[in-house]
Amino acid sequence: MKQRLLFSSDHELFRDMVKRFIDKEIVPFHAQWEHDGIVPRDLWLKAGEAGLLGCSIPEEYGGSGADELYNFVFVEELARAGITGPGFAVHNEMVMPYILSFGTEEQKLHWLPKMVRGEVIGALGLTEPHVGSDLRNIRTSAVRDGDEYVISGQKTFISNGQLCDVVVLATKTDPNAKEGGISLFIVESSRTGFVKGRRLEKIGLKAQDTSELFFEEMRVPVSNLLGPEHGGFKLLMKNLAQERLTQAVRSAVVVETVIDYTIAYATERKMFGQTLADFQNTQFKLAEMKTEAVVARVFVDHCLKLFMARELSGIEAAMAKMTLSNLHCRVVDECLQLFGGWGYMWEYPIARAYADARVVRIAGGSIEVMKQIIGRSLFPIDKSTQN
Ligand SMILES: Cc1cc2nc3c(=O)[nH]c(=O)nc-3n(C[C@H](O)[C@H](O)[C@H](O)COP(=O)(O)OP(=O)(O)OC[C@H]3O[C@@H](n4cnc5c(N)ncnc54)[C@H](O)[C@@H]3O)c2cc1C
Repeated sequence: MKQRLLFSSDHELFRDMVKRFIDKEIVPFHAQWEHDGIVPRDLWLKAGEAGLLGCSIPEEYGGSGADELYNFVFVEELARAGITGPGFAVHNEMVMPYILSFGTEEQKLHWLPKMVRGEVIGALGLTEPHVGSDLRNIRTSAVRDGDEYVISGQKTFISNGQLCDVVVLATKTDPNAKEGGISLFIVESSRTGFVKGRRLEKIGLKAQDTSELFFEEMRVPVSNLLGPEHGGFKLLMKNLAQERLTQAVRSAVVVETVIDYTIAYATERKMFGQTLADFQNTQFKLAEMKTEAVVARVFVDHCLKLFMARELSGIEAAMAKMTLSNLHCRVVDECLQLFGGWGYMWEYPIARAYADARVVRIAGGSIEVMKQIIGRSLFPIDKSTQN
C-alpha cells in the first residue's frame, strides 16, 4: 500500500522514537512479564519520562499538547511489536480523556500531570460480574451521606486492576432511574474500603493485569464526582467511540503484521520440493487477506481523520470495531494454519497473536453490541434496546 497521508514527518519522527523505546524497554522483557502476569511499575515511569503518556494532554495539565495522532502512533507501534502487556491504551485513551473532558479544573490539575509522568496509573471500572454489555444495570452503588458518597459493590475484568492508583468508576446513584441513574467517580485506590481482588488468568494478554476490584463501604468526598450526578451514562457513551476506534487501530496493525510474517515464513518453508509460498492455496489465502487488510486500513484511516476533525460518530466507531475485530481474529487463525505445528508453539509470535486476538470480539463492546448500535441506526424508530 502507498504511504499513508495521515501522519506528518513529525509524527514519523515520534514513531521512530517510540519504536526505539519499545525495542529497548519492552521487547526484551515481555516474555518474563507474561510469566509474571503483570508489567513492572517502573515501566510506566520510563514511558512517562519518554513522553509517551497522555501526549495530547494540554501543557497546563503536564502534557505536551500534541494532537491525538501521537497517542495512536504509540498504539500502532505496540501492536506492531506484538506487545499486549502494558495497559497504556486504557490509561491514555480511556482514563485520561474522561478526566480531561469531564473533570473540574481542580481534578484535572490534581490527576493529569501525575498520569502524564506515569506516577499514577489509571483504570476504568465499568464491568461487574453479572453485567458487562448492559451497563445501565450495574449494581455498584454510591449513596450520598453529607459531604461524602458511600460506595459499595464489585467490578471485574479491570485492566490495570492491580497496578492502578486511580479508577474512573461507574456507580448507580439513583437505583430507581429508568435511564441508568449512573454517576462516575474518580476513586483513589488508597482509600479505605478499596480492595484489589484476584488477578485473573486469561487465554491471552498474559502480561496484562486484569483484576477484580471490591468496594466495601468506601467513602469518597463529593468532590470526587466526575461530571454531573446521575449523568454518567451519557459520558460513557461519548467516550466509548474513542475506545472502539483505538481497538480498530490496533487490529489493523496486527492484521498487517501477521500477514507480513506469514509471507516471510511461507517464502522460507520448504516441502514437496518447493516452498509453502508456491502453493496456489497459500497465494490465494494471502491475496485475500492482504486485500482485506488494505481495504480495512483505508476505512480505519478514514475514521481516524473523522476523529481528528471531531466528526467520528458512535456508529462509524462501531463499524470500525466490528469489522476490524472480525478480520483480526480470522487473519490470525488463517495465518496460523499456514505455520502448521510451529504456529501452535508459544515461541512463535503467530501463536501469541492468536491467543491475544480472541478478546477483541468481546472487550470494549462485543461484536453483537456493535451490530446492535449499527442496526439501530438503520431503524431509528426502534428504541427497545439501548447501549
Ligand atoms: C481482557 C479483558 C479486559 C477488560 N478490561 C476492562 C476494563 O478495563 N474495564 C472494564 O470496565 N471492563 C473491561 N473488560 C470487560 C469487557 O468490556 C466486557 O467483557 C464486555 O463488555 C462484555 O461484557 P460481559 O463480559 O459481561 O459479557 P455479557 O454482556 O454477559 O455478554 C455475553 C454475550 O451476550 C452478548 N450480547 C450482549 N448484548 C447483546 C445484544 N444486545 N444482542 C445480542 N447479544 C448480546 C454478548 O455479545 C456476548 O456474546 C475487559 C474484558 C476482558 C476480557
